[in-house]
This record gives sequence, C-alpha cells and structure tokens, in this order.
Amino acid sequence: MAQFNDNIITIKGIGEKKAHAFGRLGIKTLYDLISFFPRKYEDRTKYKSIALIEDGESACISAVVATTPTLSHIRRGMDLVKFKITDGTTLCDVTYFNQSWIKNNIECGQEYIFFGKMEKKGSHCSLVNPVYELETSENRVTGKIIPIYSLTSGVSQKDVSQSVRYALDSCEEYISDIIPEEVLSRQKLARAKYSFENIHFPSDFKALEIARRRLIFEELFTLACALGKMRGERTAAEGIKIKDISLDEFYKCLPFSLTNAQIKAIDEAANDMSSGYMMNRLVQGDVGSGKTVVAAALIYLTYKAGYMSAFMAPTEILAEQHFQTLTKMLSPLGLSISKLTGSMSAKEKSNVKKALLNGDIDLIIGTHALFTDDVEYKNLGLVVTDEQHRFGVSQRAAIIEKGEKPHVLVMSATPIPRTLALIIYGDLDVSVIDELPPGRQTVDTFAVNESYRERLNGFIKKQCDASNQVFVVCPMVEENEENNLNLKSAEQHTQELRSALPSLTIECVHGKMKPKEKDEIMSRFSRGEIDVLVSTTVIEVGVDVPNATLMIIENAERFGLSQLHQLRGRVGRGQSKSYCILVSDSSTSDIKARLDVLCSTNDGFKISEEDLRLRGPGDFFGSRQHGLPEMHVADLGVNTDTLKIAQEEANLVLGKDPELSSSENALLKQRIDAMFSSNFDRFN
Ligand code: ADP
Ligand code: MG
Repeated sequence: MAQFNDNIITIKGIGEKKAHAFGRLGIKTLYDLISFFPRKYEDRTKYKSIALIEDGESACISAVVATTPTLSHIRRGMDLVKFKITDGTTLCDVTYFNQSWIKNNIECGQEYIFFGKMEKKGSHCSLVNPVYELETSENRVTGKIIPIYSLTSGVSQKDVSQSVRYALDSCEEYISDIIPEEVLSRQKLARAKYSFENIHFPSDFKALEIARRRLIFEELFTLACALGKMRGERTAAEGIKIKDISLDEFYKCLPFSLTNAQIKAIDEAANDMSSGYMMNRLVQGDVGSGKTVVAAALIYLTYKAGYMSAFMAPTEILAEQHFQTLTKMLSPLGLSISKLTGSMSAKEKSNVKKALLNGDIDLIIGTHALFTDDVEYKNLGLVVTDEQHRFGVSQRAAIIEKGEKPHVLVMSATPIPRTLALIIYGDLDVSVIDELPPGRQTVDTFAVNESYRERLNGFIKKQCDASNQVFVVCPMVEENEENNLNLKSAEQHTQELRSALPSLTIECVHGKMKPKEKDEIMSRFSRGEIDVLVSTTVIEVGVDVPNATLMIIENAERFGLSQLHQLRGRVGRGQSKSYCILVSDSSTSDIKARLDVLCSTNDGFKISEEDLRLRGPGDFFGSRQHGLPEMHVADLGVNTDTLKIAQEEANLVLGKDPELSSSENALLKQRIDAMFSSNFDRFN
C-alpha cells in the first residue's frame, strides 16, 4: 500500500524527468498530488443535438461518423484529418489539425461521443479538434466534469489527472479527517475522503460545492488553530515584569496632549508589560494617528525599569526620522539614544555594537541591520517594529531570539478590514488607534488629467509662496525605465518643474541614490530649505513634515489605493489646509472608480475595504505581505464569513486542548507543524 509521503516517482509512468517537472508545480509526494487542486473545471456533462447547440457553445454530442476520414497534407507541418458526423438530423464537419493517427482510429459508421466548441455559420456546422471516445470506453473523458490543473512544461492535464487518480486510490485509507468530529457535525461538513475525491473528480456541481466548502473550511480552520496555538504559547511565555512606573514625567514633556485612542493603546501595552508575560502587541492606526508617541511611552517605561529598547524601521529614511523624533522626545528624559543602519561606516557600526554590549545605550534605532547576527544586546527589554507589513512573522521571531524574551510592539499603518486583522495578526493582540489628533483636517483630494498641468504648477507656486511645502511623487526614477513614454520619471519631472517654476527650490530623492545623499535632502526638506520634493515612493511610509500641504501624485493609476492613501497621509499633518492631487491621463472606468474612492473619503479602513473589493485580495494578502502560509482553496479576502466561523471553532478546540496534545487532535497538530515549517523556510 502506498503512503502519503511516497515520492511520485513510485507512480507507474512517472520517471526522473517527469518527476522533476512535477517538482516545478510544488509536487513531490502523493500527498502533494491530492492537495494540488484544479484551477477550474470544464463542464462536459451536457448532451445536446447538433441542431440545438448554439454557435460558440460547448457540449457533448452523440453522433455517427458519416464519411470515411481523409488525411490531407496542406503544407509542411500542417496535416488535416477531416470527416463528417451526424446525429440523425444534422450533419457536422469535424477537423483535426496535426493528429494524423486519428484517420486510422476513427471508423466510419461507428457512434462516438464528441465534445468540443461548435462553430456555426448559417446552416454549416463544424467542430475543430473535439475530444472523442466510445460510449463504452473505460476512464470516460466526456459526460462529466473535468478538472483543469495548472501546468508546467513537461506535464499535461492527463499526467496530472491520472497521477491524482492513482494517489487518491492508493492512499485512500490515509485520507482522514483532521477536523474534530464535533466540529464536522456542528458545521455540517463533508468527510475528507469525499471532499478530496470530489474536488478533483466531482460527480456533479453540487458535490463539488460541498467538497470545496469543506476544504476551504479545513484550510482556514487549520490556519486559525495554528495562529491561536502560537498566541497561546506566547501568552504562557514569561516575560520581563515592568511595573509601577509612572508616565507623568513623560506626558509632561510632550508638546501636545494625547488622544483617548493613544492613551488606550499605551494603557493596553503597559498592562501587557506589567503582567509578567511577554507582550506581543500590534498597534494599528491610520497614517498620522500618532503611533510613534505610543512607542515612545513604552520605551520610556522600559528605560525606567532598567532595560534597553530597539526600534526597527523598514527604510533608512524612516530610521533617521524616528531617530530625530525620538531623540527630541526622550533624550530630555535622560535616555541615551543611538542609531545603527547599513550605510554607516564599519567603524561607526563597531562603536555602536560595543556600546550595545556594554549596556551604554538605552534606545537603538535602525533598519534590519539591528538584527543581523553580529549584533548583541545587553538587557534588551522591548523591541518595536514599525510598519509591520514589510516584515514577516518569521522576522519577528528572529528579533525575539536576540533577547531574553523582550516585549514586542508592532506598529502598522496598513488598515486591514477588521474581520481580517483578527486572523492576519492572529498571533498578536491588537490595539487600534481610531482617532486622529485634534485639528487635523481632512485632505481635500482631486483627480485631474494632463490638461490641468499649468494650473497645477500655479497651485504649487501659490502653496510655496505661502511658505508651505510640496511633495510630488512619480512612479519611476529615470526616463524609460520601463520603456513607457507616458510614465513620469522623478528625475525628468524635476527638470520640468525647475524650468516651469524657476523661483522655487526643487530637489529630487529616490531609491537609487546613496543613503547619505537621500538623508541629506530629506533633512533639508524637513528643515524647510526645499520647497518642492520630487520623489519615488521612498517617502511612502512615515515621513513627517508638518509644513507640507500639497501632495501631487503623477501617474496615479499606477498605485494601489492603500498606497495612494499612505502617500496622501504625508500631508495634512500641520495646521494649514492640505490637498492631494492625483494626476492621471488614464480614463478607463475601473481606474476612475478607484481614484474616486480616494477623493470621497479619508478613512483608511474604508479605503482598504474598497481596495480589496476592486483589486481582489491577490496582492493585498499575498503571503509576502503578511507572512502567513499560502492558501490553496481558501481566499482570505473573500471567505471572510467562513474565516470567522473557523476561528470560533478553532478557539473552542484550543480552549479544551491548548497544546493540541490529545490523540483526537494529533493529525491536526501534525498539519499545523508542517504548515509553518514550510512557511519559515520560505522566509529565512
Ligand atoms: P503615524 O501614526 O503615521 O506614525 P506619527 O506618530 O508620525 O503618526 O504622528 C504624526 C504627527 O502627529 C507627528 O507630527 C506627531 O508629532 C503628531 N502627533 C501625534 N500625536 C499627537 C497628538 N495627540 N496631538 C497632536 N499632534 C500629535
Ligand atoms: Mg509612523
């Protein structure tokens, strides 16, 4: 008897070469085969008479071959087999290209079932390359629903479906239910055996639906159990107790009073840190909601308790900015603050590393350079990572390794529909900052096309004359990066603006520049020495210049909604009225619809929901972004109701058996372990 883990090479008809090709589809074992679900299905269940099939329609036809097949050689590499068929009332031409053997396989006077797409011109009917078989043939390929799999060169549909058939038959006894009986019956789910059989070879569409429903549930349930278990283990992990420290002194030094949402987030996190267990909390809040100060409060607590903190930003520009903001906020309170980034000289780096080891630093700010192997920490009590969607679950794990169970705070400005945040961040506790600091106005947003160029330049001038500053974002760094003449490049556009607006100081910053040059321009912009900053999306996350009141986005059609919203969040941070102008010459209706969403609301959650609806979940929830394993049948963006139910069921199961150590849950635990081990491989 075959086993799940058997290599597919044990299947008759699969040799080294084919096995290798299957490998490209991620298929190595029999289990991989049965979990390789069809991409779609072809409905070959319908039978019709030739007369009633419409032009362009596909159906099965039971018909007799009416003429002896002829083979003609049209030109080199082009052979035709032709004959006529009839179902008693109507004649139909059948043609096969380059399949000359068919001439000898088809017998005049014999009845076959044909399946193909009918072409009709007037009373003339024809079929090209239809599938055909005898009604009595074994392994019928007509009269049923046929699975269509994704392929790679060297693997045909037939290869896949035959191999899957073999795997299903030979492993039948191992296909068991990893979902507990209780859940199966409560949710009225089909059995595993039935579901795997019918997702591949559905007896009808109802069976397919039942199978899909179960497999989607299974996938989401497994994921929810995995994340729930991780969360459980973490809550059980002892952590540094940071307790009985007053934040009064910290609050006194702030130039503003905090919003209720900020205070709530700080309280929730401070509570975690005093509990004796490890904190693992996400602070989610729209751009400009003031997440940095929440982190600062916790860094202060950690410092007062005698520990140091590390703050990780996704880019050098952001690290620099956080360094300046946090230094302003925290050094008056006595903290010694340093930074560590990839662009520092070897000497500077080694000095910082020494200081870290000696415990001379209370707060270190940097990029992922902070967590490379040769950096060691003394008394690391808190790790803050900004903009979580750029880091994965496994990177978080790597950070935690660096200390004796430091507390972890993750900050994200990517609003995610609430139902999904629960699962995407299933291993974290979540605080939401759903309130902006007072006085923040909404940013008026307009979509315009190229015909507004002159007025737009006039508007830039007006803003700058009023001592405000302007951001301009372009999709590319240099001309012709993508051989697309319609795309604005940051460098070219800078030149154009300089000649149109000679009285203004206009500079350009982009990802291809040396970090030092970038930093220098960014700080000059922060200090107000530059009027207009032209850039690529390097400024996307976090950069804070309250004096900037106008954000212009060129080729706005090139950006995702959430990304546009992030960019817009760079303005409207100060006292003055702010604007965002989306420039696009594209007039297709779906692009218009997307830009309209942005013009009509400033609410990041609403925008993320729309983004999800319009763009589909593909990018949005690509595993790269959230660091979760890839889903095979379930779609995190679409199956949200099932997701919720799966999570409730997972919580019930984990409530009774937190470690999943009972024999009933053994298979479930095995699946979870496999799920995350392959995920970590991919990220490390
Ligand atoms: P984000 O959540 O996008 O990271 P920041 O932490 O950068 O937001 O804060 C955005 C701006 O708002 C900063 O200039 C910050 O000083 C300011 N800010 C934060 N909290 C408040 C508050 N409660 N009142 C007034 N301004 C605030
Ligand atoms: Mg920020």
